Amino acid sequence: MAEPICAYCGGKATTKDHVVPRGLYPLSKAGSRVQRITVPACSRCNSGWADDEPHFRTVLLLAGEANPIVRELWEGKTRRSFLQPDGGRRRRHVAQLLIPVELPEGERYKIYPADDHRFMRILRKVIRGLCHHHGLLPVVSDDQVWADVQRYPIPSELFDEMAKAHAMPDIIEYRYNHVQADDIHSTWHLRFFERTPFYAIVFDTAQAREVALTSANLGAS
Ligand SMILES: [Zn+2]
Repeated sequence: MAEPICAYCGGKATTKDHVVPRGLYPLSKAGSRVQRITVPACSRCNSGWADDEPHFRTVLLLAGEANPIVRELWEGKTRRSFLQPDGGRRRRHVAQLLIPVELPEGERYKIYPADDHRFMRILRKVIRGLCHHHGLLPVVSDDQVWADVQRYPIPSELFDEMAKAHAMPDIIEYRYNHVQADDIHSTWHLRFFERTPFYAIVFDTAQAREVALTSANLGAS
């Protein structure tokens, strides 16, 4: 049998990585199938997400109206992560991301996930792992993926073309379209906690992504 290769870097895989961070699932959803999606990963890639995954969750929790799952996570796992020895550092990093905005009801703080490189790195990781999980590509490097907050409505015919891959809408819902045209491998739409939608493109190569970034003037990250 061939040795398993890391879905993220192509190196020798000695571990399994949970594609969707398990921290997004509160106790009440412990039986969910999706949190058990794993892909082969080398220990370097796998351990490389450890610090950014709790941060990813915190940003998602703060990025919009809370549904019951968000409240359960906030009271449970997130509070516990803030109480850990390095919780002060975690809290400070999140506080730096909160931007004051003037609203009719007064000053509020907003968080902009797309501006946070640690957040976006985990988002791209989830898409890379899902590519492998669905048998689309064995290895996807970080620089093949462009992702952003979904800033404009997606035309419904494009949206309908995307296969609905999974729906547990109160935690994560995602779709993808295996495009295979114009250097684009696949397009992705992900939504967490019934809000905060993201759009992503996986390119055939890192160079194709670079060309698209400079010519189409896609936003950063
Ligand atoms: Zn690796």
